[in-house]
Amino acid sequence: MRLSRTTALLAGVSTLLALPAAMAAERVQVVTSFSILADMIENVGGEHVEVTALVGPDSDAHVYSPRPTDARTLAEADLVVFNGLQFEGWIERLIDASDFAGPRVVATEGIEARLADLADDDHDEAHDHDHDAQASHQDDHDGHDHGAIDPHAWQDLGMGELYVGNILAGLIEADPDNSGAYEARAARYLEEVAALDSELHELLDEIPAGTSVITGHDSFGHFARAYGLQFLSPQGLSTETEPSAANMARLIDVIREENVRALFHENMTSPAMIDQLAEETGLSVAGTLYADALASDGEASTWLGMMRHNAHTLHDALAEPGHDEGQHDDDDHAGDDHGHDDHDHDH
Ligand SMILES: [Zn+2]
Repeated sequence: MRLSRTTALLAGVSTLLALPAAMAAERVQVVTSFSILADMIENVGGEHVEVTALVGPDSDAHVYSPRPTDARTLAEADLVVFNGLQFEGWIERLIDASDFAGPRVVATEGIEARLADLADDDHDEAHDHDHDAQASHQDDHDGHDHGAIDPHAWQDLGMGELYVGNILAGLIEADPDNSGAYEARAARYLEEVAALDSELHELLDEIPAGTSVITGHDSFGHFARAYGLQFLSPQGLSTETEPSAANMARLIDVIREENVRALFHENMTSPAMIDQLAEETGLSVAGTLYADALASDGEASTWLGMMRHNAHTLHDALAEPGHDEGQHDDDDHAGDDHGHDDHDHDH
């Protein structure tokens, strides 16, 4: 993945150098809200696009304050892509305040239908469409929340079709002459996404069912539904509100009562709350998960790379060595109680 993206970027650079300036300027100018979408757009658009992310790596798009230059950046865009579902509530106001009049893509468009399909196969997880994203739901640790749809759908690679399909439609609308190239790149990219999705399912199946972990905010609901872990957090779906002392106290009770195995920092939020929970519960902080932003370099600097990093970080901390090794079936791991050699919480 790193290699193919680097190759694509290099191909883009050499094409650019070989072209007269006027043609280079014809690359589609895409502005997006945050780094994870920027990587997806670069993968689908290749050398035909130039992508600007308003919120960069390791930064929190929930609480971003647009700068005056952002409106000018938008005014020069051919296409704007954002996540939607109130993930980055500031962007629609920013677009409306700018002179941008081109197509805008909501990358999660269609998610309600997708979640309804998943709920048909699985248990009921479709949520009412309601934008009250403030509610924290510490008491609700079976993974369901009530009200807002979790906007962090990129955390499930199975949602790749949704994201890539919406981005593809936007690029074709903005630049129909290159639609064949976009379609071919999107198809190849989706093959990579699907292959990694299978790989992660296999890896994360080695973590015993019912394992719970704590992260800074509720970025991992889609990951949890897809890959079978439980995530709890002191904050809700957004980072806009600080957790109350009562929330923190309740979470500490839950950590003590339930099979919570580890705490994880997030790359784009302050580690302070997690460090406080570690101190008060004696649980260890087992690594950093990439939640709402890419890393600026290294493995987690692409969407697929950050997903792989997160899965391996969780696996290293939580998998039962030797369990089901070499085979891959749907056995329920709950109740298994054989040896870990790296962790020894409560077993
Ligand atoms: Zn978030």
